[in-house]
Amino acid sequence: MSGFFGSISKTSCVHDIFYGTDYHSHLGTKRAGIVVYSPEKGFQRAIHSLEDGYFRNKFESELNEYSGNQGIGVISDTEPQPILVSTHMGRFAVATVSRIANIAELEERYLKQRRTFSELSHGTINATELVAMLIAEGETVTSGVENVYEHVKGTCSMLILLEDCIVAARDRLGRTPIVIGKKEGAYGVAFESCAFPNLNFELEKFLGPGEIVRITADGCEQLRKPMEEMQVCAFLWVYFGYPPSFYEGVNVDACRFRCGAALARNDTTEADFVAGVPDSGIGHAYGYSSARGVPLMRPYVKYTPTWPRSFMPQSQQMRDLVAKMKLIPNESVIKGKRGIFLDDSIVRGTQLKDNIRDLHLAGMKEVHMRIACPPLTYPCEFLNFSRSRSSMDLATHIAVKELEGTDETDLSEYSDPCNGKYHAMVEQIRRRLGLTTLRYQKLCDLVDAIGLPKEKLCTHCWDGSSHF
Ligand code: SF4
Repeated sequence: MSGFFGSISKTSCVHDIFYGTDYHSHLGTKRAGIVVYSPEKGFQRAIHSLEDGYFRNKFESELNEYSGNQGIGVISDTEPQPILVSTHMGRFAVATVSRIANIAELEERYLKQRRTFSELSHGTINATELVAMLIAEGETVTSGVENVYEHVKGTCSMLILLEDCIVAARDRLGRTPIVIGKKEGAYGVAFESCAFPNLNFELEKFLGPGEIVRITADGCEQLRKPMEEMQVCAFLWVYFGYPPSFYEGVNVDACRFRCGAALARNDTTEADFVAGVPDSGIGHAYGYSSARGVPLMRPYVKYTPTWPRSFMPQSQQMRDLVAKMKLIPNESVIKGKRGIFLDDSIVRGTQLKDNIRDLHLAGMKEVHMRIACPPLTYPCEFLNFSRSRSSMDLATHIAVKELEGTDETDLSEYSDPCNGKYHAMVEQIRRRLGLTTLRYQKLCDLVDAIGLPKEKLCTHCWDGSSHF
């Protein structure tokens, strides 16, 4: 996914950039970068790989080298960034949360103009460098950002660090969030509002879709009004987001609680305990347990002293080993018991299948799975994921292929819980995973749990309803 943080202050911003960016670490596993600006030293930038270490370990030893009152930081799940450029409107640094579906087309357009790309990595151009080039085509930063909105097919939210301000620009359809925080003598800007409380920022404003603001230590000026149309990613609340964060004023954990409670409605399955699949199933499990009065327990516990988060090892074999080693089953909770497990979603189901097999091996009598969102039937075309989401990888597609004998089937009927085909698909997934029962959230209940109008949410994962 990726996430970013920026701050501009009357005093040094380095401490805030360091910790504020760190609070976005759950959004990316590839690279991180920070840029700080001071009139004396100019732009000071560092980018490190996160594939073998945490953001804090990578940047801590060099923090004393930075000085300045304004800066931005990014946790990137894809390309190295922020990108620093010198343009007709001055020097600036840019960090993005983006997925540019037409990147090849835009690359070709620039190459035909005999322009060059300097930040090649993994055999492709750097998407953030491309965004910097599109911004630089504008007369002003605002028109440059509008140029990005006009040409990028996909998603692009940006933080631009100039010599006298930070410009924050939220994606044209607002698929990813930007939120502004304020404290005495400083402003902050973030993807995750959970970056604010420990840095003493108070939440000031959620940017609307396509809104652009100019931020200084003294205030926040609107450069472009928000658009009416919005397609904020509903999956933020289900899985990506960090529990204390708010998007559009709706708290992630409170939404997960409501999701769990909605799954509990009309569910009469007898069980000895309810459990959340760590980590993002836990909030949903609180809601379910509370609504049904079934005790919340921990059949397995993550070994946090050495596995505080998932690195993304290169090989699938190593990924499977890491996933297994970090969760320790507790036989006293499991043996001979019937458990209801809450998980955010089922993507491929490979890991879940292994977990369920391990639960059975540990003596679990019944494993009932409740999923906080509907079956994922359409791959996301709008955001970058580290979790594989090619359509043929999805558990739903595998199940339908097994039922129909072809991978050419139109999945619209299979997405409709009123259609028998939906139930056949869910049953096929249940069988393949070795579950006692399996139920998914209905889309209308998920939308109710978020509390925003359906037309303001991207729910494309489940109903294929969104567009570029
Ligand atoms: S397709 Fe799914 S993951 Fe992608 S933006 Fe829409 S809701 Fe979010």
